[in-house]
Amino acid sequence: MILRSWLAALMLGAVMLTAAPAVADDVAPSARVSSAVLVREGPSTDTAILARLRPGESATLVGDVSGWYIVELADGTRGYVSKAWTIVRADVGGEALAAVPHKVHVIDVGTGLAVFVEGPGYALLYDAGSQDDLHGGDENRVVAYIRAARPDLTRIDHLILSHPHKDHLQLMPGVFERFQVANIWESGRVNRTDGYCHFLKAAMAEPGALYHDAIASNATRSVTFSGSGCNGTVTVHQAAMMSEVPVALGPAASMHFLYRDAHPHSDPNGNSVVIRLDLGGKRVLLTGDAEGGEREPPATPPSPRSIEAKLIACCAADLQADVLVVGHHGSLTSSRTAFLDAVGASIYAISSGPYPYHRVRLPDPEIVAELAARGQVLRTDREDGFRLEDEARACEMRQRKVGPDADETPGGCDNILITIEGDRPIVAGYSALVD
Ligand SMILES: [Zn+2]
Ligand SMILES: [Zn+2]
Repeated sequence: MILRSWLAALMLGAVMLTAAPAVADDVAPSARVSSAVLVREGPSTDTAILARLRPGESATLVGDVSGWYIVELADGTRGYVSKAWTIVRADVGGEALAAVPHKVHVIDVGTGLAVFVEGPGYALLYDAGSQDDLHGGDENRVVAYIRAARPDLTRIDHLILSHPHKDHLQLMPGVFERFQVANIWESGRVNRTDGYCHFLKAAMAEPGALYHDAIASNATRSVTFSGSGCNGTVTVHQAAMMSEVPVALGPAASMHFLYRDAHPHSDPNGNSVVIRLDLGGKRVLLTGDAEGGEREPPATPPSPRSIEAKLIACCAADLQADVLVVGHHGSLTSSRTAFLDAVGASIYAISSGPYPYHRVRLPDPEIVAELAARGQVLRTDREDGFRLEDEARACEMRQRKVGPDADETPGGCDNILITIEGDRPIVAGYSALVD
């Protein structure tokens, strides 16, 4: 049987099968399928049709190769369905779901930000950038980390770009290559850089993905790039626009867009999408590079046009959170005391690395001191020495550098892990993960 030979080829190592998930995942036709998804003998449209998967039906996920899921039907038939026309759903009962904790991973990407959040029935990524680690493919530090944390994961339900700066988006194309991305969220503020051009092209090329911005619903717009490394016109297809309506992530988990602004501020930091995740009774606030003004001592009131000032004015109560992923890498431009008072968090995560922003290495000590007086502070830059080879060696000795080893780029050692489980106190520390 041809199917068997396809599988034999796979088992021989031509392609890696995904590790068996802890809970079985189902593959179902996506919302845009009107008649049926074809189940084929091999990962190609040239192979025979074995069965049809109609809307409302599903099959068990067995594995995954480029562009195709391997599925098993109720009668035991195994075949391939196109990722472009299907979605993966966690097939777990309510009781099992309640036992699955929410985990917030602030990935040590070196100088930049990437926050991976997973819980019952969902996976979400807020930013995937680095100023200094530019690896592609599976060497990409964000991809390497997620694969180590969740070897079974094939799909990112929500990918959010806080704002179009390199240190927040540089590693995005690798994420699109490795995972099926279902929803993409960004302000829509254009930055005519090669990095943003690559991100937008990858987002539009992602099969079946819905793209959302803060500009319009169900419309199209064109963006033209003329960079030396990425150029041409990208037609952006907009699905339902980002709004104040929360997005359900899974049981007792939702995403709230607190700040959404596509107006082209002179500094894209002013476009940072601020989101709050409500995860089983606890709240996590993600602020990107939202600022309170120029570099000033924390007690300075936020300048009226800053994101921090606008959020305090419009919706201070909405800012209350247990965990704050600190704005702008712990810079003095952000985390004004008025803002921190409104948030009232007890856990603070700072993502930064050794490379300076405008000659300043972040976080600023004044901000770290301010946060330490309010609660637990966790930092991804703990071992990011100015001499990068020192850090690489220190990480190796501890056998805990996730992602490319001994590459003399910072990052990979101090991945922050925050676990939220029912009514229990939040557990926050560093991830013991290795790859
Ligand atoms: Zn940044
Ligand atoms: Zn920025």
